[in-house]
Amino acid sequence: EHMIDILFASQNKNKTRELNEILGENYNVISLSELNITDIIDETGSTLEENALIKARYLYNKYKRPCIADDSGLEVEALNGKPGVYSARYAGDDNNPIANNIKLLDNLKGFSNRNAQFRTVIAYLCPQGEFLFEGIVYGTITREIKGTNGFGYDPLFQPLGHNKTFAEMNSEEKNKISHRAIAINKFVTFIKQNNE
Ligand code: IMP
Repeated sequence: EHMIDILFASQNKNKTRELNEILGENYNVISLSELNITDIIDETGSTLEENALIKARYLYNKYKRPCIADDSGLEVEALNGKPGVYSARYAGDDNNPIANNIKLLDNLKGFSNRNAQFRTVIAYLCPQGEFLFEGIVYGTITREIKGTNGFGYDPLFQPLGHNKTFAEMNSEEKNKISHRAIAINKFVTFIKQNNE
């Protein structure tokens, strides 16, 4: 069987490794850093879907090979889905997770509705077309920061049915239920069905 190369519009080595582990030996996910591509792809979209497509289309137009890109964010019900696509830049352009967490707690002061979801969108572009895969994990925003694992809003996000935040879980535990894992699994099911 021949190996299928997929370009991944990300510099993130951990995400790339995770994808390669899930996809198995018939696939080879290649990150931008492995290709020495330092292009900055502006994430100018106003939705996660738009940003994932912007990144995947950029790579696909340039390299004409199967490409994927992902975009994720935290969507808080009482804030009408904010910070959403602006999750990384919520408190400023420097993507400071502590400042972002403090701003989120401030903006939720006085709200009893703490419902939130993490959402990931993966865009896959190949000669057959453009395909989107979505993963959502539902939960609540805690009233204080708890836990030191993970990144971003993990210390404030308690997934439904669990009594600890993502930051109090180890990566194995989080990766079983995360938005990213759900989207990746949908993509993997799709690509395996279409290449067998
Ligand atoms: P990205 O699209 O994966 O780079 O995610 C954008 C931003 O959303 C991150 O910088 C975080 O602020 C937030 N985010 C996405 N996924 C997670 C997660 O699993 N835990 C905590 N924060 C996340």
